[in-house]
Amino acid sequence: MTWETIIGLEIHAQLSTESKIFCGCATRFGDEPNANTCPTCLGLPGALPVLNRRAVELGARAALALGLRINHQSIFARKNYFYPDLPKGYQISQFDQPFSADGELEIMTAERDAAGHPLEWRPKKLRITRLHLEEDAGKNVHEGLPDVDRYSYIDLNRAGVPLAEIVTEPDFRSSWEAYDYVNHVRRALQWVGASEADMEKGNLRCEANVSVRRVGDEKFGTKVELKNLNSVRFMQRAVEFEVARHIKLLESGGRVTQETRLWDDRALETRVMRSKEEAHDYRYFPEPDLPPLMVTKEFVENVRESMPELPDQRLKRFVTEYNLSFSDASQLVSDRSLADYFEDTVKTSANARAAANWIRSELLRELEAAGLSAGESPVGPDRLGELITLIDAGKISGKQAKDVLVAMFKTGKGALAIIEEQGLVQVSDTGEIDALIDEVMAANPDQVASYRSGKEALIGFFVGQVIKASHGKANPKIVNERLRAKLSA
Ligand code: ADP
Ligand code: ZN
Ligand code: MG
Repeated sequence: MTWETIIGLEIHAQLSTESKIFCGCATRFGDEPNANTCPTCLGLPGALPVLNRRAVELGARAALALGLRINHQSIFARKNYFYPDLPKGYQISQFDQPFSADGELEIMTAERDAAGHPLEWRPKKLRITRLHLEEDAGKNVHEGLPDVDRYSYIDLNRAGVPLAEIVTEPDFRSSWEAYDYVNHVRRALQWVGASEADMEKGNLRCEANVSVRRVGDEKFGTKVELKNLNSVRFMQRAVEFEVARHIKLLESGGRVTQETRLWDDRALETRVMRSKEEAHDYRYFPEPDLPPLMVTKEFVENVRESMPELPDQRLKRFVTEYNLSFSDASQLVSDRSLADYFEDTVKTSANARAAANWIRSELLRELEAAGLSAGESPVGPDRLGELITLIDAGKISGKQAKDVLVAMFKTGKGALAIIEEQGLVQVSDTGEIDALIDEVMAANPDQVASYRSGKEALIGFFVGQVIKASHGKANPKIVNERLRAKLSA
């Protein structure tokens, strides 16, 4: 019996505003607990919310980047529930008239092998039900050691921080599709500046709804909601765990209970948090303290015009304009600062292929080791471009350039300064190279004889020996030419 996995995702992304969504308090992370609060976000009686225009702009950027339609009118609604981190007793969210809806998105996705390597990349279309605006709640904090000096308090710095909630239709058919979708959304939000979308900092949170059904069935199975997914990888694992649990249950004649479960990333399993019976009844009603949010066509057009070229368009352009392979171009658009870095390097070096290769191999390795993004690279794109120009002009060899780049990275100096310091100029002088070739030929008479009797593959051996004798300085192209001439003389 084969089973089909069904997944729908809900993402909460913090919008990158300076101030909160309904008051002027700062959204800064890491300040003294409760430093960024006022009567409005503390929920004091009589305090009134005023909508932050910037939150609406960033919500619009997010919606457009994900292919949603922005509604001309949306309504804020009270979602009523009691929890200590929610001083008003309700959250201002949106319900039946959301900010934006009906998104169609195409992502690239691939299943992974046992080691986690992608198999075949393919496009996948999915529907985003809605993206709405809401405020975040505060945080219950527990500090100190249990049984020693344990204490708890509520930090309301986060209360009122603007969020975009993004809900999909149940369109994913595997945990890796869900994984690739969340990464797609993260990059899109970062790309257009709507959100930092960093799961570690908690400014992107994700919940997964999971069910299974027998292949061929039309009706969906009972779903379970998964929470506490602190990374995209945990989300993927939690879904896999849950799918296996459902199948085992159903095959042994049991039934899945509709419930919310938490992922335990130490035990690598999910556990019940609450069942549907205990589920909330939020008693939504329109927020009386806020008028309907009206968004004009001009507003949407202005936002659209201010958007950067999106990753998919940029990828296509990289393939056609610079003749890059799909996989090279995909890697370069994995992050906007990396894509910018690449194009700036091409501007200085006029060699797109070399720029792509140097960035993908040497630069990314150094950046990763230093934990930096391309935008933070101590070697700027103009400097990498200059290095490529020096290789292309035959000043230094590619091999030397690798060491030069590492030194540039460490010292922050330019390529020319390092080449001078280390006396690294490439030897292109045929007289010097001929002398080295003579030495190598004299030291390897057997190989010379073999070459001359037809074993031409030995050329690689000779080139290697000559370059070694030059301490890596000889220009390989000239070595090759001179060797062939001398060996066949
Ligand atoms: P609820 O009323 O429990 O909030 P919704 O219909 O609003 O359920 O859906 C919430 C999320 O669950 C959406 O992302 C949706 O795509 C997903 N979902 C709904 N039904 C299923 C199902 N049977 N299996 C997996 N996901 C589902
Ligand atoms: Zn406030
Ligand atoms: Mg719902």
